[in-house]
Amino acid sequence: MTVKDAIDQTNQPNVPPKASLFSIETIFDDKDDYEALQNYIHKNKDTLRQHVPELIQLDKLLDQSLGMMQVKILDWIRVQNIALPIPLLTLGNVSKADHILFISASLHGVERIGTQALLAWMQSLIQRLRWDKLWRSQFDEDVALVIMPMVNPGGMYKNTRANPNGVDINRHAPIDAEDSPSFLVGGQRFSSWLPWYRGKHGIAPEKEFSVLESVIDTITAENKTVIALDIHSGFGLRDQLWIPYAFRKQPINDVAIYMALKILWERNYPHHRYIFEPQSIRYLTHGDVWDYFHRKCQKLNKRLLPITLEMGSWNWVKKRPVQLLSFSGLFHPMVPHRHARVMRQHLGLLDFMLSATRNFDEWCPQGDNWYAMEQVAHAMWYQSG
Ligand SMILES: [Zn+2]
Repeated sequence: MTVKDAIDQTNQPNVPPKASLFSIETIFDDKDDYEALQNYIHKNKDTLRQHVPELIQLDKLLDQSLGMMQVKILDWIRVQNIALPIPLLTLGNVSKADHILFISASLHGVERIGTQALLAWMQSLIQRLRWDKLWRSQFDEDVALVIMPMVNPGGMYKNTRANPNGVDINRHAPIDAEDSPSFLVGGQRFSSWLPWYRGKHGIAPEKEFSVLESVIDTITAENKTVIALDIHSGFGLRDQLWIPYAFRKQPINDVAIYMALKILWERNYPHHRYIFEPQSIRYLTHGDVWDYFHRKCQKLNKRLLPITLEMGSWNWVKKRPVQLLSFSGLFHPMVPHRHARVMRQHLGLLDFMLSATRNFDEWCPQGDNWYAMEQVAHAMWYQSG
C-alpha cells in the first residue's frame, strides 16, 4: 500500500501506513519509512514544534545519519486532531548481529527528558560513525541497536504520564505483584482519572504496550542476548539503575549477570553517581512491562536483560522549588544549564551499555564465577527480605 492509498482509504490526511508487524523480516527489512516520516513532519511542523519537538529533532538526526540509521513507523496514536507516530530506529543488522542493545524512552509521556537525553547520545553516536572506522565496524555483525525513542507519543503531546486513554503503560502488563505493592503508586484499577491506572481487567491491551511487546518478541526471537535499557525520570534525588523485579522481592534468576555488570561499570567508571540495585528495594508495583517481558522470555529460554534508568529529578525540584508549580517541572529540569547537564550526564553510561552488550561474552560470569556473583548479589541486595 502506498502512502497515497492509505490516505485515501483512511481519510486521515498526513497519516502514512504503519509497518505490517510482526516478524523480523517485516520490521527489519531494507525499506524504511524515512520519506513518509519526513513528509508527515513537514506537513505538521507547527503543531509538532509546539507539542512534540523531539520528532523534529529526530528527523534532523536521521538526516545526519546518511542512511546508516533506519526508521520504521510501528503505529499511530491519535490525539485531538493529529496522529502521532511510534517510531523504531535501527542501526546495524538486527538479523546478523550477535547481540542487541534495545533502548526505549518516554513510556511515560511527561518524562520526555529521557527522549531528549537519548537523542543527545544518538547525536554523538551518529557523528562518530561518520569518521571512526572502528566504531562503525562494530555494527557489521557484533552488535545492533534497536531504539524506541518515544513509546508514548500521545502522553508526550498531552504532557501526561499515562497514554491518551489514561492508562499507565508501566502498570499495564498482565502481571500482578506477589507482595503488597504501594497503595495507588503500585497500580490501580479504580479510575483513569487517578494516576497509575492499569486499565480494565481482561480487555485488549493498549497500542503502546502491544507495539513494545512485538518489538521485544521480535528481537529476542533468534536467541540472541538482548540488553534493554528503558529511560525514565522522576523518582528520587539520585540517578538510579534498576534491575527487575518490581512484582516481588525475590532475586531475578539472572542476578549473577546483573552483579557482574554492576562491578564492570564501577571498575570502569569509579566516580559515577548512579545507584545500581533491584527496583523492589524501592517499591513494588503491578503490571511492570519489564517484569512481564523478562518472565515471558525466561519461559521461552531466551535471554532478555532489562534495566531501567530512572533519572532522579527531585534534585532539580529541590534546587528550584518553583518547578513544583508545573507538572512537567517535576520530571524535567527547566533551567537551561541544568538541562544541558542532563544531556551530557548519561553519555558515558550509554556508551558503556553499547560496549557491554557488544562484549557480553567477555564479562558474563561462568561456572564458579557465576556462583560467586550470585552470592555477592544475595548478600548486597536481598538480606533484609
Ligand atoms: Zn517513568
